[in-house]
Amino acid sequence: MTQPRPIRTVRGVRDILPGETVRWQRVEAEARRVFEAHGYREIRLPLFERTELFARGIGETTDIVEKEMYTFQDRSGESLTLRPEATASLLRAYIEHGLHVQPKPVRLYTLGPMFRYERPQAGRYRQFHQINVEALGEAHPALDAEVIGMLMELFRALGLAERLALQVNSIGDEACRPAFRERLAAYLREHAGELCPECRGRIERNPLRVLDCKRPGCQPLIDKAPSILEALCPGCREHFERVRGYLDALGLAYRVNPRMVRGLDYYVRTTFEVLTEELGAQNALAGGGRYDGLIQALGGPPDPGIGFAIGVERVTLLLGAGPDGPLPTALLIPLGEAALTALLPLAQAARRHGVGVEVAYGRKLRGELERAHRLGVPYVVIVGEDELRADRATLRDMASGAQRAIPLDRLPEELAALGRPG
Ligand code: AMP
Repeated sequence: MTQPRPIRTVRGVRDILPGETVRWQRVEAEARRVFEAHGYREIRLPLFERTELFARGIGETTDIVEKEMYTFQDRSGESLTLRPEATASLLRAYIEHGLHVQPKPVRLYTLGPMFRYERPQAGRYRQFHQINVEALGEAHPALDAEVIGMLMELFRALGLAERLALQVNSIGDEACRPAFRERLAAYLREHAGELCPECRGRIERNPLRVLDCKRPGCQPLIDKAPSILEALCPGCREHFERVRGYLDALGLAYRVNPRMVRGLDYYVRTTFEVLTEELGAQNALAGGGRYDGLIQALGGPPDPGIGFAIGVERVTLLLGAGPDGPLPTALLIPLGEAALTALLPLAQAARRHGVGVEVAYGRKLRGELERAHRLGVPYVVIVGEDELRADRATLRDMASGAQRAIPLDRLPEELAALGRPG
């Protein structure tokens, strides 16, 4: 028989290997800690939804809905989509379970994989992971500053704040954006010949997205385009000034970038992004904004909302390689069947004392010592025929090579004492 061919992962999809999961767990644990300290609670959402939810919730003219969704028919013929982002699902849950009757703002966070059919590159995948925060039912500009401040606090806790730049903008609302959109479209139409084909296609459908184009050829035109900040209505202007005032009060450094519009249709007023110069083209670590009106558009109450999404792959890329994660304190090496049987319950008792141990399966001592060395465990415990007869075990310190005998029945406590930090 020929050897079967191994099956590989799908393009743009990655395994997160044990050497990396330590960093992932750290990011997730810090996020939970920081968010919970601000009163946010976790919600867990399904990975797929009715396609219609994303079409309505993200916007028909966005890149995501136009060309990036993993949409399929299930066996009953219903059109379903793997979620490309979390906000639409979270708002669906908010409406479906009547969470809006809770004291507002309702503060929620969630983490998990997202799916987008994008061209894979370093830092851009087809299955990737986000940490999402949404604060619902409150329009006060101090909430915008709270959410942005909390995002930056997480990066500070991860030791990344110095390497990141915060940008904020206001993209107006239904009162002022339509007129700006028209002005911008008129300007772009005049210069259509100087734009990339993709931007030309956006002039009528979604001219604000042109401001987001990264192609060098489009930059001179974008630089001279009308600025949304000059077109804001008094309500949006005041809101943005107050958000900035609260960010200043929090002592946060930021740059106002009037070209930052973000890719999604639903944003109003405040938008923000956290950028790095260390990841090439995939320079956005996190982004978000206010989306007053979206909950109502999805059939819910007229509650405002604001939130952000963090790209976990990019954060872990910035964190770089670190220690490999928790190791067991000891490898227990039985020499023979009787020793193995004696060690199994002692290993279990040691674990109940909170110390990590692994049991070797009775192969040659030299091979097992070699394995202990490669694992990097600080101690090994050897139990052979002689030790067993004397009710003893030999404890070996791998770093110094020093050995001492300990009574078998004291083994769990002895190991627990060694396993305690400090
Ligand atoms: P968005 O929902 O597009 O605003 O994305 C929010 C964050 O998710 C971005 O700032 C990225 O860090 C991350 N992200 C978005 N798309 C991808 C992707 N295809 N692969 C990896 N990370 C992504």
